[in-house]
Amino acid sequence: MNRLSIDFKPDGLVHSIRMTRQVLGFPVYKVNAFFVDGLLIDTGFAFGRNRFLKLLDTLHPDVVVNTHHHEDHTGNNFSMREKFGLLPLAHPKTFFYLQDPSRWVPWYRRFVWGCPPPSETGELNSKVQTEHFLFLVIPTPGHSDDHICLFEPNEKWLFSGDLFLSEQMKYLRKEENIFSIIDSLMKVAALHPKKMFCSFNGPIDQPMEAIHKKIEYLENLQKGVEDGVRRGLSPGEIQRRLLGRGDRMGFFTAGEISKRNLIEAFLKK
Ligand SMILES: [Zn+2]
Repeated sequence: MNRLSIDFKPDGLVHSIRMTRQVLGFPVYKVNAFFVDGLLIDTGFAFGRNRFLKLLDTLHPDVVVNTHHHEDHTGNNFSMREKFGLLPLAHPKTFFYLQDPSRWVPWYRRFVWGCPPPSETGELNSKVQTEHFLFLVIPTPGHSDDHICLFEPNEKWLFSGDLFLSEQMKYLRKEENIFSIIDSLMKVAALHPKKMFCSFNGPIDQPMEAIHKKIEYLENLQKGVEDGVRRGLSPGEIQRRLLGRGDRMGFFTAGEISKRNLIEAFLKK
């Protein structure tokens, strides 16, 4: 049911650890953790625990950082302490989320990738130093209020967590703040990354182009929503006009991730 594949990038420095969850033989979700110079960025989802830990036995992490609290990024935090004696570092708010993940992980996400056991995190400073690299901690709220990215200024690597995800998003989680997402995208674009390591897509070679396309797409969407409001259209009509009919994701997640959330997020301004 679970598959864990490991993708070593050609430059040999950053290793993508791609975890894929299959249900009835179909891949339903993937997430990447990354390993570079002793630094593990995110701990994947709980259902992949045994294979993930086996892999880490060969990599020997020295420090663990979470980009945010979601269960596909912190699923094996508990085992970092237990197995390697490492306390994962994260935004101060992450600590409170991870005290009891069962309070906020909905049923369908438990079914797909599992619910992490309660765990603790240490507070991230503004930098993370490894043997050969220095990673700047960039607060990037929007996808979640505790979201951070890591940026290595000499290599110009950006570890973007779930900030980017795709150039043309059609869905949004209820708790996401679309305006903070746009601000955070602009913040990381100002760093001029040369390579982006996205938790969903893995390595992206032209990050500036991808980030700017996403900002442009969201700004056009905002204009479309504002235009719909001026014409007196309902949120449902605006949604159908801009994002198309149907909202299967909204149906399966009971509205937690939906097209309607994306439209309504722009209406909150
Ligand atoms: Zn997330």
